[in-house]
Amino acid sequence: MREPEADAGDGRRFAVDRMMGRLARWLRVLGHDVAYGPHLVGRTLVACARREDRLLLTRDTHLLRDPHLPPHVFITSDDFRAQLREVAAAVPLGGRALLRRCLECNRLLEEVPRERARDRVPPFVWATNERFLTCPSCGRLYWPATHYAHMRQELTTLGLLPESATS
Ligand SMILES: [Zn+2]
Repeated sequence: MREPEADAGDGRRFAVDRMMGRLARWLRVLGHDVAYGPHLVGRTLVACARREDRLLLTRDTHLLRDPHLPPHVFITSDDFRAQLREVAAAVPLGGRALLRRCLECNRLLEEVPRERARDRVPPFVWATNERFLTCPSCGRLYWPATHYAHMRQELTTLGLLPESATS
């Protein structure tokens, strides 16, 4: 496993249309910096992408009429797996450390000493996980060993996880 902060700040920056919440979460799973929220739609979304130098991912055909639209990928599918493949076809996505960012608020996660996680997770989870991470914004706890297993399975199915990243 890579050092969690070794490539912090690396990865791509996206601004994702509010109608693609699952896509936004999976891009965060893959370690990318994703702006996403109920307010990010239409011109507000475009302004965010432009201001923060993010690649715009949208399904909004109205936006395509704007001749000055910043760099973007128009997503055609309504299934998040197909959407991920569409993004991956446009820009390389995989190969980074998984679960570096909070899936809810996009902040980089921080290590938590194992003892401090003890009272915050079920005993079985504490007993079977060596590492715990927390979000400095919302305080959510993540335990990578368990979470990775599910994520890797999904990403391997999608062909987005190189073998070298699974060690
Ligand atoms: Zn959070």
